[in-house]
Amino acid sequence: MPPAPDPLPSFVHWEDVPSLVGSIRTRSLVARPKTAGECREVRAWCREHGLTLCPRGSGRSYGDMALNDRQVLLDVGRMNRILAFDEEAREIRVEAGTRLIDIFARVHHKGLTLGASPTESHSSVSGALSANVNGKDAWRLGSFGDQVVRLSLMTADGEVHEVDRSHEFFDGVVGGLGLLGIVLDATLRLEPIPSPYVETTVLPARNVDELLEKMAEVEQTSDFAVAWVNVYARGAKLGRSVIHASRWTEVKQTEEERKAAIDAGIERLDKHRRFGLALHAAFGPLLSLMLQFQRPFLRFFNWLYYTKSRMAAGGKHVELFLQYSFAASFTVPPAYLVCGPRGYTVQVTFPRASAREALVELLEICQSSPCPPVTTILRAHRADDRWISFSEDGYSLNFEIHPKKRHVAKSREVVDRLVDAVARRGGKVHLAKDQVLTPEPFRRLYPKHAQLLALKARLDPDGLFATDLARRVGLCPAPGRTEGS
Ligand SMILES: Cc1cc2nc3c(=O)[nH]c(=O)nc-3n(C[C@H](O)[C@H](O)[C@H](O)COP(=O)(O)OP(=O)(O)OC[C@H]3O[C@@H](n4cnc5c(N)ncnc54)[C@H](O)[C@@H]3O)c2cc1C
Repeated sequence: MPPAPDPLPSFVHWEDVPSLVGSIRTRSLVARPKTAGECREVRAWCREHGLTLCPRGSGRSYGDMALNDRQVLLDVGRMNRILAFDEEAREIRVEAGTRLIDIFARVHHKGLTLGASPTESHSSVSGALSANVNGKDAWRLGSFGDQVVRLSLMTADGEVHEVDRSHEFFDGVVGGLGLLGIVLDATLRLEPIPSPYVETTVLPARNVDELLEKMAEVEQTSDFAVAWVNVYARGAKLGRSVIHASRWTEVKQTEEERKAAIDAGIERLDKHRRFGLALHAAFGPLLSLMLQFQRPFLRFFNWLYYTKSRMAAGGKHVELFLQYSFAASFTVPPAYLVCGPRGYTVQVTFPRASAREALVELLEICQSSPCPPVTTILRAHRADDRWISFSEDGYSLNFEIHPKKRHVAKSREVVDRLVDAVARRGGKVHLAKDQVLTPEPFRRLYPKHAQLLALKARLDPDGLFATDLARRVGLCPAPGRTEGS
């Protein structure tokens, strides 16, 4: 292993950087530039010392997508200014590290919103763009890349390119996993909304057929939809689920009242986040203990949730979109607790045309596991032409899996079967949630990766930009590792 350059310049220092789920631990040299000039300096230093560089947003992807063990992380969190907001043109230009919540805070009271937001309010714009994430409106508004009007990209030679939707780099940089350069800023298109509030209806579905039937209806009438699926239900109840369908709703308020409500909502979310973190830290060990008995515990929980939802069925509930979209990620225990020390998340898509067969097959594969997923969430999507894009005209299932020690190998086998089942159907695995894919299935799932590699060979011939995920799936070679201090 080559030693780290000694002495280190003041703009980098060693840090322990775990994955979000917590089962991957890395140590990296971290730089936190504030300007494009400082990014250029970090880039030049990495090149001079033969180190690879991984751009990083808020580090809210679940696996190793924003990790670069024993190499350099360029964290854009301090590049977080809103550069321009054009209400008329419905566009906002922000620096790479701007968090999504800060965009909502700026535009919602003006009757505008940002589509394709993931349920993690602290995701950065560049992270959301580079992972081409999706929201509960994915079948309507597509992925995050569909909201991007243009972006600035600093490539390995230090040059800054202005990339609009017609630029040859666009389909590579969106969903490009940080492998082509550093996104410095982006201009995003905004959607008009009647108010910052949504109205949600709960719709239980008895089985796969009812789930797909109700989802098809909801896709016509709602703006957001998500279904919680009981993976334990079998036979005639296979696919038993609860759909939450929401739509923007009119609430009569002046702009000042809207602004005050949004500010108070954001403050509540902050409190909620702190409280949620403290609560989960305190009760995490209890949850881990309950997950040792996950089969009886989850059967009971799922039964209770479905029964409660049936009682609430058809009722309508109005709340701020920010509350609706983001509060659940603090209420529900975080993935590192749900998945435990050996677990992981997996999100797979499958085409609409064979959705019923795919759902049945995927749920039955899950049921063959000694540890079926703790949570299973279904969303609807639309096709996306970016080279590395997870979305397609169909549905996705997101699983959180918590294998016990003795079930690790068997649980992995089951996940490999899930991946194989979606690959056969032309589906995908969401890389922002992945930590299990190996090169062969990755190549099958993402045949357009060759286009990304060809562009990378042109823009980054020395392989400056790399991530642990890219190495794992064979997009980058393993580096000569650098000794940590
Ligand atoms: C509670 C929770 C809920 C979530 N919900 C969803 C969801 O609904 N839908 C969904 O799709 N995802 C979801 N995610 C995943 C998460 O939103 C995405 O992984 C998102 O990309 C994270 O943004 P980030 O800023 O943390 O990016 P990071 O994790 O820091 O980085 C993601 C990728 O972007 C690259 N990157 C970051 N910044 C730059 C830059 N400046 N230039 C070039 N490349 C860059 C990184 O190298 C990496 O490859 C959720 C995560 C959590 C924790």
